Amino acid sequence: MSAPRSLFWFRRDLRLADNPALLAAIDEGEDVLALFILDLDIAERAGDYRKAYLASSLNALDDSLKGKLAVIAGDAVLVLKDVIARYQITSVHVGQDFAPYGVSRDARVEAAGIHLNKTGSGYAVSPGRVRKPDGTNYRVYTPFYRAWLTHGWRAPVQAPKKLELVSPAPSDRQFPDWQTPTGVELQQAGEKAALKRWQAFQTGDLSEYEVGRNIPGIPGTSRMSPHLRWGEIHPRTILSSLQPGADHDVFRKEIVWREFYADVLHHYPHTSRDYYAPQFSKLRYDAPDEKFQAWCAGKTGYPMVDAGMRQLKAEGWMHNRVRMIVASFLVKDLHIEWQHGASHFMKYLIDNDVASNSHGWQWTAGCGTDASPYYRIFNPIEQGKRFDPEGNYIRTYVPELSHMVGAEIHEPWSSPTGYLHDYSIRIVDHAQERLESLARLAELKDQ
Ligand SMILES: Cc1cc2nc3c(=O)[nH]c(=O)nc-3n(C[C@H](O)[C@H](O)[C@H](O)COP(=O)(O)OP(=O)(O)OC[C@H]3O[C@@H](n4cnc5c(N)ncnc54)[C@H](O)[C@@H]3O)c2cc1C
Repeated sequence: MSAPRSLFWFRRDLRLADNPALLAAIDEGEDVLALFILDLDIAERAGDYRKAYLASSLNALDDSLKGKLAVIAGDAVLVLKDVIARYQITSVHVGQDFAPYGVSRDARVEAAGIHLNKTGSGYAVSPGRVRKPDGTNYRVYTPFYRAWLTHGWRAPVQAPKKLELVSPAPSDRQFPDWQTPTGVELQQAGEKAALKRWQAFQTGDLSEYEVGRNIPGIPGTSRMSPHLRWGEIHPRTILSSLQPGADHDVFRKEIVWREFYADVLHHYPHTSRDYYAPQFSKLRYDAPDEKFQAWCAGKTGYPMVDAGMRQLKAEGWMHNRVRMIVASFLVKDLHIEWQHGASHFMKYLIDNDVASNSHGWQWTAGCGTDASPYYRIFNPIEQGKRFDPEGNYIRTYVPELSHMVGAEIHEPWSSPTGYLHDYSIRIVDHAQERLESLARLAELKDQ
């Protein structure tokens, strides 16, 4: 009998450190084939930004694996069957994927007779584990958070000390040549970049996080979201370096929002596209038209909204405070269903995560778990004055307003110089649309 040889199938865990599933593969095989499958279905739907980030992350992983990562394009079942036969693989190891697409793909793989040895997941506590005393799932964040803390999580594990890798055939190294679009600046991908960024944040801005996280004009947040999305770092690694204290507590709570939304999506997979609170599907919405196009392009005439939408296109990322402002504007000021905005986000975000995205949108729209009530409507002008008082964030992304100073930047229509450089005229009047939104909500209540 030939020596056992395991296959480690990298998916949303593009790292070596704190990767228990990789250690399980090493334990079981004399040597290991490291594989990433380029799923052409996903590639067709993914935007250029996500593809460029992934290509760069795969190159970084390959460097850590000393040029021995196999990358094969195709359908997961067909690729795995072929690779198992050609490389005489005796066991296949993965970290569990909880996103709906990953769940159905893995079910298809197992139905085809390929057993997946699943160890761990991309969460400190895997979705489905945190339960109420009666065994049901939580639908509200704060009790989930408390139960999550009580549940506890494992300490990180070390990177493998020894890794005997199979050298893949040259034809099995189909690295994609997906380039970052011109004029776009994506943050650096890969495990080393993730650890470096985390270390810098942990010893720097984390100590001011409670306040700093709401100010989009400063680097007050960690920007770990793309790294967590691709599993270039595990949340356990992050959690293990948090200390007692208010800023660290608030940061831990944000990490747990990610865990909560993954848990919610696990229990209600239809909420990736459908309403969590189904009555809101009956609200009167407008079809996406030229106003939607203006929103996508960052030309609504509302500086804070436009700055956010342009940051998304410039960096494939947007600050959380501004995600809420632009999402509220789409749903409450333009009366467009959240799914249109969520799809636009998924196209451009390099941290695109179906659970956090769909539920971040539904929270803001007022139809999700724990949602801010529908009648709470973000005022894009007041939000700007409060969280970007000097206009630093706006000036970074909206050059037509870069000549304006102080609070006047939030209301260019009130300034004689507001339209000096062809800044867009407001596409709607926020005060009026707020009333319209409330009127539509009242119709729903009358039904
Ligand atoms: C409309 C909308 C859409 C969103 N879409 C996504 C998405 O596709 N992918 C994504 O990762 N996050 C999404 N978020 C959540 C949040 O905006 C980002 O996680 C955050 O901006 C990432 O920046 P950061 O890493 O600097 O965050 P930090 O403030 O440094 O927080 C640390 C980590 O905590 C988690 N986190 C923080 N806030 C949230 C939150 N509100 N919900 C869930 N997790 C959170 C993230 O993993 C983040 O990396 C969305 C929020 C909204 C309102």
